[in-house]
Amino acid sequence: MKVKILGAGREVGRAAIAVEYRSRAVILDYGVNFDEKDLPQLPLHYPPAKLLGIVVTHGHLDHIGGAPIFYISRNPKAYATPFTRDVARIMLSDFLKLSGYYLPFEEEEVSLFLESTRTLGYGEPVELGSFRVRLRDAGHIPGSAMIEVEAGSHKLLYTGDVNLYDTNLVGPADLSGLEADTLIIESTYGASSHPDRRGVEEAFYNDVREVVENGGTVLVPSFSLGRGQEIMCVLVSRGFEHPIYVDGMVRRITELMLEHGSFIRRLDVLEKAWSTVNVVRDWQDRRNAWKEPGVIIASAGMLKGGPARYYLKKLAKDKRNAVFLVSFQAPGTPGRMILESGRYAENGPLVQARVEWFDFSSHAGREQLLSIVKSVKGLERVIVVHGEPEIAEAFASTVKEELGVEAIAPSNGEEIEVS
Ligand SMILES: [Zn+2]
Ligand SMILES: [Zn+2]
Repeated sequence: MKVKILGAGREVGRAAIAVEYRSRAVILDYGVNFDEKDLPQLPLHYPPAKLLGIVVTHGHLDHIGGAPIFYISRNPKAYATPFTRDVARIMLSDFLKLSGYYLPFEEEEVSLFLESTRTLGYGEPVELGSFRVRLRDAGHIPGSAMIEVEAGSHKLLYTGDVNLYDTNLVGPADLSGLEADTLIIESTYGASSHPDRRGVEEAFYNDVREVVENGGTVLVPSFSLGRGQEIMCVLVSRGFEHPIYVDGMVRRITELMLEHGSFIRRLDVLEKAWSTVNVVRDWQDRRNAWKEPGVIIASAGMLKGGPARYYLKKLAKDKRNAVFLVSFQAPGTPGRMILESGRYAENGPLVQARVEWFDFSSHAGREQLLSIVKSVKGLERVIVVHGEPEIAEAFASTVKEELGVEAIAPSNGEEIEVS
């Protein structure tokens, strides 16, 4: 068996891994990244003729955004959990709307990809030529999966994005009875530990209340798939009494989550949250939302676009207001700029509103990643991906030193013989 890194080699995102056996292959994820100019960057090319199938871990664009490129027909078959397949439709159509001009595929390829996607439940095996594939709950967002691949006598496990925290939306990854010769593991937070989750939630809740009770409005820029819903649940489950507005794609995705209730850890909490919040449907609603003290949960999570941009401009000037960032802020994004310089545009005005960052990560931290490695029986080799170069490298060294298992952090294009 051979592994070829097509994307996510020493970088966060653009996940894409080819697993080859007897000159046929399956691809695990085929995502996209965005460069400084916000142009989409696809993984390395792979010859479609060798492909037996594409298996995707979850609906975030950095794992599915490039997959339609393989679909000029209904071949090869793709596999995903039912929630991932359905949410992919929303994510990809939004992606086409925003970046379509720069993409090597169009609506037709997206449709063919979705029509070619078979759904797989956790634990349900599927045979693709000599490959046997199974999905396992990854605990990252609803529907997220790790992928187990077997061919000949070799077993490989790919984590995709993985988390061990118990949240409202999802429980921890399923690590029971893991066995593999090769582990491909993400390392987004491979060099740091997250603070206690309950403590973060409590601090967030108290700070939001403080701002609102002093007459301010809190903007919470959030990704529409995962974080936005989690924030709603955190506020409502703790009895928040003030208005909460939600704006952006989060609406369609929440409705889809409620349809796929079996993928939601605390469905009752999400249902209650959804019946409590005010959904922004048009410009009239949008103009009203920021005029009273309350919370606005709006995309995009790093303030690169979406309705969050509009609210930011309206709320930034008043120091009674606040901007509470709740996700990873990539270098160069407006979210990161506010944290570093207090401005969201170069030479722009200083933001007067209070700005804070809360560690609501949906990725395992260093200790948790190590415990995942430890939980795999029979492990011979660890391949570290989906991390900044120094972080992926550091995590690979930690695995070698602390666990005595061979570990590398390969670059895109590298091929690794694993059996
Ligand atoms: Zn990812
Ligand atoms: Zn993800």
